[in-house]
Amino acid sequence: MNLVQMLDMNARKFGPKECIRYAGNTLTYLELKQKAEQAAGLFQSWGIVPGDKVALMSQNTPAFVVAFYGILKAGATVVPINHKLMAPEVDYILEHSESKALLFDGTLAPVASKVQTNVRKVATDSPVEGFDSFESELASSPLFRPVNVSDDSIAEILYTSGTTGKPKGCLHTHRNVIMAGIAGALAVKINENDRTLMAMPIWHSSPLNNWFMGTQYLGGTTVLIREYHPLHFLQAIQQEKCTVYFGAPISYIMPIQMIPQFQDFDLSSMRCWIYGGGPMAADTALMVMEKYRSDNFYQVYGMTEAGPTGTVLQPEEQIKKAGSIGSKALPGADLRLIKLDGTEAGPNEVGEIWLKADSMMNGYFKNESATQEAFSRGWYKTGDMARIDEDGYLFIVDRIKDMIVTGGENVYSKEVEDVIISCPGVMEVAVIGVPNPQWGETVAAFVVPAKDQQITADTLKTFLADKLAKYKIPRVFEIVESLPHTPSGKIQKYQLREKIN
Ligand code: ATP
Ligand code: MG
Repeated sequence: MNLVQMLDMNARKFGPKECIRYAGNTLTYLELKQKAEQAAGLFQSWGIVPGDKVALMSQNTPAFVVAFYGILKAGATVVPINHKLMAPEVDYILEHSESKALLFDGTLAPVASKVQTNVRKVATDSPVEGFDSFESELASSPLFRPVNVSDDSIAEILYTSGTTGKPKGCLHTHRNVIMAGIAGALAVKINENDRTLMAMPIWHSSPLNNWFMGTQYLGGTTVLIREYHPLHFLQAIQQEKCTVYFGAPISYIMPIQMIPQFQDFDLSSMRCWIYGGGPMAADTALMVMEKYRSDNFYQVYGMTEAGPTGTVLQPEEQIKKAGSIGSKALPGADLRLIKLDGTEAGPNEVGEIWLKADSMMNGYFKNESATQEAFSRGWYKTGDMARIDEDGYLFIVDRIKDMIVTGGENVYSKEVEDVIISCPGVMEVAVIGVPNPQWGETVAAFVVPAKDQQITADTLKTFLADKLAKYKIPRVFEIVESLPHTPSGKIQKYQLREKIN
């Protein structure tokens, strides 16, 4: 099946059922199909033909969903764009993806108006000065002419976060996306009565493919909130009686810390809490489970390339294996841990995670060399290094690109960072390797002091002296005001390396 067939099937199967809830309004499965066809008709009138790319830059709105399916119905490919990007970053993706049009939501007009690329720019919601409006054009759009869509045609080009370099465009077929939805749905047993809260950005691979598509596949309801906010998150769960939520670890912690009436919210409808993108420390996980009065917490690990299906840590494993990303790949996926010498890692050894998944990308768009490099004998080499324990559980230690080799010793930047961040007065830190003729590389740390705090290289050296082996202690400390980040908040160490070289 492809996503267009799924939409049609759902309209027949679940017609009047709530498909999307947003700001107290409902879009049924039947209405979604009808609107998607209007959108497809509109895109066809713009000259969009099968194989074209259409970029979609939006927060979580029904218009995103309608446009997403409309693009697919027209046989075209969706290029979701991170709504936090600045105009030059958007231009990079528009040009690289060869997009013909950019649909953006009105709040993003300031960025859209600065975009230089020659594309048709249309606001998705109510008219924004200077732009056509998708919503007002929908009603009068020309009749949609159905096109054949194959399961293997490209449904999405998903751009990676750009943590280790320029974002890369991952090509995902319709089949890949459906399989990602099925993997998510099976992992947490989504069913047609579920009401999945979408508070993380819907353009991101995990919210979009695992949780939105997983809910779509089973005929559940997706509750959209435009953007994550700790109060709106709690209100949405209570008012909409949500049952499933996926979010970053911080999205669980913020409500506890920032909302004084946290305990008064009725979260009893929730049956399944999923977090991912980073681990939760054991005591944080315990605290979160206690505050949310649930032990049904799942952790997922993955990446844009895999669609993003990677591994899962099950509820019963949360406490005894806190900090682990689990021992098994999600349904429809498989993993191996391969040492740098090419052999399989055994207990307590470190290796690179290799993945196979039904939702794995076809390759990177217009980057054959990176595609060749990324795969080995059908396995995707994630670039993430993990230690495997005696029970087969994986603990991420570092990205391969961030590991430092100094005098023949491996230093995991993450290990050094974890110790430095525990030093009072440190707000943020990044540890990188600096080329050195004698040692190969030496360790360097970029440290951002907390507000109004004085930090010096000497205080840091003294702090680390009895906590880390000598070869792991940075030779160079740079005290800086800030670090370069991706729009999703990951530190871009490649920029620091460029700065120091
Ligand atoms: P780029 O590939 O452009 O450098 P990126 O790898 O940060 O950017 P994403 O695909 O958004 O882009 O992120 C995937 C990465 O995030 C994984 O390879 C891994 O390093 C990290 N990650 C994802 N989930 C987890 C998790 N549960 N625990 C720890 N790290 C995670
Ligand atoms: Mg990556």
